[in-house]
Amino acid sequence: MILQKKADVHWHPSQIKRSDRERLNTHKGITLWFTGLSASGKSTLAVALEMVLHERKCRTYILDGDNIRHGLNQDLGFSPEDRTENIRRIGEVAHLLRDCGIINMVAFISPYRSDRQIARDLCKNDGTFIEVFVDSPVDICETRDPKGMYKKAREGIIKEFTGISAPYEHPEKPEIHLRTDQHSVSQCVDNMLVYLEDRQFIGIE
Ligand code: ADP
Repeated sequence: MILQKKADVHWHPSQIKRSDRERLNTHKGITLWFTGLSASGKSTLAVALEMVLHERKCRTYILDGDNIRHGLNQDLGFSPEDRTENIRRIGEVAHLLRDCGIINMVAFISPYRSDRQIARDLCKNDGTFIEVFVDSPVDICETRDPKGMYKKAREGIIKEFTGISAPYEHPEKPEIHLRTDQHSVSQCVDNMLVYLEDRQFIGIE
């Protein structure tokens, strides 16, 4: 795929800034980027955190891997190139949601460091990209296997399955590291809330 900026395409700035939207929302626009093996708990934790944030009147949205592959990214498969393009598009959508002042949660395996870095770079190091490493050993994930994916991968029905027949590059310096084989869902949610409160991402007036 050729990515090019056209010389005659210009950026039209809005009169309303992200900071204006954040003031209205009483929280920052941030991306919580959940990465980890299939069945490590990304979707479960994103949904659980969203429930708590919603109760606190935060504006939230979850970009879930499977859901996005039904629509925006339905043309993409699971080759390294397609996985990279998948993440690039999601990174752009997350960036737009951040600009809307929304707390967005991205729940994708996103196995390659370089791809996650592309998504991170869009926030220009302003701290609003929060990498959440949802960490559980592959054998535990395989025991959970809520969607029967590991079984299919072992049988060779699913090719290029992360952790079995495709690599997973764990984050080197995630902002939040959750061991879901050692801590409950509510403990993991509490950890994330503490992180968000400490940095005043939520509860601003
Ligand atoms: P993923 O989105 O990473 O593919 P899911 O959230 O769909 O994973 O599935 C994770 C499974 O692990 C669920 O069945 C969930 O109930 C279970 N689980 C057990 N402990 C935890 C935990 N601490 N955090 C998240 N999920 C957990």
